[in-house]
Amino acid sequence: MIYFDNAATTKPCDEAVKAVCENLKANWSNPSSLHGLGLKAEQAVNSSREIIAKALDTDSEYIYFTSGATESNNLAIFSTAKTLGRHKKKIVTTAIEHPSVSQPVKYLEEKGFEAVYVTPNKSSEINPADVISSVDDNTCLVTCQLVNNETGCILPVAKAFKAIKRLYPKVITHCDCVQGFMKLNISASSLNADLISLSGHKIYGPKGVGALYVKKGVRVLPVNFGGGQEKGVRSGTEAVPNIAGFGAAVEVFSKNIDERYEKMSEISSYLCQQAETVEGVTVNKFSESSPYIVSVTVDKIKSETLLHYLEQKGIYVSSGSACSKGKKSDVLKAFGYDDKALDSTIRLSFSYENEKSEIDEFMKQIKNAQAELIKIR
Ligand code: PMP
Repeated sequence: MIYFDNAATTKPCDEAVKAVCENLKANWSNPSSLHGLGLKAEQAVNSSREIIAKALDTDSEYIYFTSGATESNNLAIFSTAKTLGRHKKKIVTTAIEHPSVSQPVKYLEEKGFEAVYVTPNKSSEINPADVISSVDDNTCLVTCQLVNNETGCILPVAKAFKAIKRLYPKVITHCDCVQGFMKLNISASSLNADLISLSGHKIYGPKGVGALYVKKGVRVLPVNFGGGQEKGVRSGTEAVPNIAGFGAAVEVFSKNIDERYEKMSEISSYLCQQAETVEGVTVNKFSESSPYIVSVTVDKIKSETLLHYLEQKGIYVSSGSACSKGKKSDVLKAFGYDDKALDSTIRLSFSYENEKSEIDEFMKQIKNAQAELIKIR
């Protein structure tokens, strides 16, 4: 099997699997219980909190566990709308955000907020100046992802947020960091973000767990109410095994980020070189992009047809984004892909386990697909 769909989800690492299993067996008690068993479970949660905080170069008191980045993004956006949105009704975001950001923003628009969606420029980049100039005195929130999940394009979050904080210190800056965490060298302070969303299953941890970093002094109001766990920010009994698995994965992958980046760069560059030699295959390039995600257009073959063809050969890719499930991607449209490219673009996303030889096999099967599928049409 060749698995090139790591932006959709990663295979949990052995350490994460072990931590989940051990905590399911040993730490099944409720972390809020006052007895010793509860305390042990609480310690497991807090030890993961410390590991994740360390990976962001911050303190554990600023990390709140959630069920995943979708919840973290919703919490960040709706909380800010509650804390500042009575008087400040503008939200600045980009046209290429994940639905867990764009949908809450759209919902708030229906409730009377104004949203500005910054689009990529002619060079397919989000220009930091466009983000900065969209912010004004009426803005409550700027929300911008670090790495686009469909194309790998890196957004100028640190630069834009720094200028925005200087001009409008009260505006809340939120970064969906899901595709950048453990892949790029970042810290909470280097991003200049008040709020940062993370997900466990994109970094070789389990599904159903994520986190929201909340900068010191920033107020987060809950969007769900209950037992007051996570200091009242996110009620609900903590998913101890998942949280322990998330922490175990971060422990492993917060090391050697640069080495892995180097390996991914070699693999994605090799893919570009190989693709250039085949007519009808284009690697969609961006001035700054993560080597973990590559967008490839294969002319005259529908992405879904190609996806299933490759699957028969044991190669797993995604059409655009796994979240868009066959629908034409609004994100790729915003990047300016024409109708033909929208239909014929697949996403390859890599992990540390991938090798160059797998690119050779992928290219071989792309050529076979061109020979077989284009002829049939
Ligand atoms: N943001 C981005 C950029 C993502 O790629 C994803 C996952 N596709 C999410 C948010 C949602 O993460 P989760 O699956 O943890 O809810």
